[in-house]
Amino acid sequence: MMSMDPVTPGAPTPRETPPAFAPYRWATPLADIAARHGLQPAQILRFDGNVPPLPGVPQIPLSESFARLNEYPEGSYRELREAAAAYAGVADPECIVVGAGADDLIAIIARTYLAKGRRSMIVAPTYPVYRIASLVENASIAEIGTLDAVQCRAAAVVWLCNPNNPTGEKLSPAEIASFARALPDTLLVVDEAYVEYGGDTVVPLVAELPNLVVLRTLSKAFGLAGLRVGYAIAQPQVAAELTARRSPAPITIPSARIGAAALRSPRTDVEETVAERDRIRAALLAAGYDCPESFANFIFVPLAAAAAKADELEARGLMVRRFPNGIRITPRLPGDNDVLLAALGAGEEGAADRAAAEARRSATVIRTTTETALRISLKLDGKGRARVLTGIGFLDHLLTLMTFQSGADLDLLAGGDLDVDEHHTVEDVLAALGDAYGQALGARSGVTRYGSAVVPMDEARATAAVDLVKRPHAEIALAFTGDRVGGLALTLLPHALERFTMQAGFTVHIDAAGDDDHHVAEAAFKALGRALKQACEVTSTGVRSTKGEA
Ligand code: PMP
Repeated sequence: MMSMDPVTPGAPTPRETPPAFAPYRWATPLADIAARHGLQPAQILRFDGNVPPLPGVPQIPLSESFARLNEYPEGSYRELREAAAAYAGVADPECIVVGAGADDLIAIIARTYLAKGRRSMIVAPTYPVYRIASLVENASIAEIGTLDAVQCRAAAVVWLCNPNNPTGEKLSPAEIASFARALPDTLLVVDEAYVEYGGDTVVPLVAELPNLVVLRTLSKAFGLAGLRVGYAIAQPQVAAELTARRSPAPITIPSARIGAAALRSPRTDVEETVAERDRIRAALLAAGYDCPESFANFIFVPLAAAAAKADELEARGLMVRRFPNGIRITPRLPGDNDVLLAALGAGEEGAADRAAAEARRSATVIRTTTETALRISLKLDGKGRARVLTGIGFLDHLLTLMTFQSGADLDLLAGGDLDVDEHHTVEDVLAALGDAYGQALGARSGVTRYGSAVVPMDEARATAAVDLVKRPHAEIALAFTGDRVGGLALTLLPHALERFTMQAGFTVHIDAAGDDDHHVAEAAFKALGRALKQACEVTSTGVRSTKGEA
């Protein structure tokens, strides 16, 4: 019999891209970085993502958003467009195009206005996706250092990021307007992803300039990058051209609803991020670094040996974004930022610095034992937001409730030997949280000192009383009727709360009882959170103790 060589069919040939095309490269995932340096994921602090450290809080019931997953979204996204128009200050929702993040809109703009034989001009160095989207459309690309109308005369599209990623610098609306007026046949795309952090918007110019498109996103100031919601603002005929070329339903129903609610009543981290951005920059300048003023949620630090510095930081679990000529740092909670500043040799030294650090009332505790690895970033004067991931769902829930009631911000990541049991994780997490409280309070000067709360949860009821004076003592009486809730052995809770108390150096009394163990535990953690909030509050009169300073 004749044997025939099997013919391996070749893969179909994709549409060509220019040789310069290279896909977007994400930063290395956390788990890979940890593995590379023999660290636990909890030991890594990411300053490289240009997103806020804590997630935005959905302001509508999540169940409502997930109730109709069998249906398609309403394809005109009217609610979202109306919310975006009102937020951005444009009267007509027909000026708004929505997309799955600003990235989606960049691709739609490229698809609409670029092609082989058309020229795309990029004001560089900047966000790499303009280049990628232009090359996918086979446009010719050129990079320019400044927004210069003479150089852009032949361009179909000019991309400008304002404030710019990665430098943080900004251009004035007047400069942008005169450029757009000089080139009426060129589409000028102004990416305002970071405008909330100190940029000057050009949205008011859209009414007058038919060649202007402004990009916005909910990924930055709103803390909702995971939702993938972005929008563009342009005159209605341009918006219609873009909408005609977008996919029919790019944004999921939950994303569109949560996004619209966020735009209607913005609750952002801008103030805190800007304060930390400016503090980090001042500390770096004082330590001899050179960094330009930033109007975004990051700082660019020019460095001759950027790669070496980034490597050195990475080996210590501190991730910054690296560029050939510098590193980019996105602020996190103050305690985290202090860890990075210390690693950069820009830590605080003098008494005034220490007093300033104390006033920030923030702490970062990173701890690894053979049983667990965990990181806690705590900021006492926060907004009650928590991101808690311990691997034990009910513990996450309890700490989230406690944080909400306490008004602090908490980012807690723990990985423990849960395959053995949850004992070590529960205990270590609460002990480290106690340490974080102790550190964040510092000398405890000026705090209210006492706090108490009674919290009912249906049939259950808890009382908590806290004294911050440094005489550690715990009286914890949680009257559970069973052994477990979810993955958590309830017997661990009193002991863990005791550890919290001892490590923090507080006096804590908690009593809780009821028929439903779930409620008993919830009431106890909520009451503790409320009592802590009261006790930690700063008073003008200082710590009240008949024996002098606590
Ligand atoms: N534009 C700029 C300038 C960015 O830096 C980023 C994200 N890093 C984006 C757009 C992407 O935004 P989105 O998450 O909305 O796609």
